[in-house]
Amino acid sequence: MSACWQPEYVPLNGCPMCGRDFTSQDAFDRHRVGRHEPLERRCLSLAEMAEVGLHVMTPEEMSRSQYASRARFGVVLVHDPQAAERVRRRFGDEWVKQTT
Ligand SMILES: [Zn+2]
Repeated sequence: MSACWQPEYVPLNGCPMCGRDFTSQDAFDRHRVGRHEPLERRCLSLAEMAEVGLHVMTPEEMSRSQYASRARFGVVLVHDPQAAERVRRRFGDEWVKQTT
């Protein structure tokens, strides 16, 4: 899959290789694995992402979140719900909205 975002969609941390978008740089970094030299980098599959705690938001989850305006684009938006919960517990919901 290649990046296929609609022209008016601005990815948060979009991956041009798999076309998914990530709510944090950390989540993006965790989905790319393999060595740079020789070039063996690849994106994790959906099953592999689940194994490392990354979750693809459902349209319903997106529509109830701070990413609701992105739901209409039909993008695959990936986040780390455990990291978001840690931030929420420490700093509160408003800070989560700014950072995850
Ligand atoms: Zn990717």
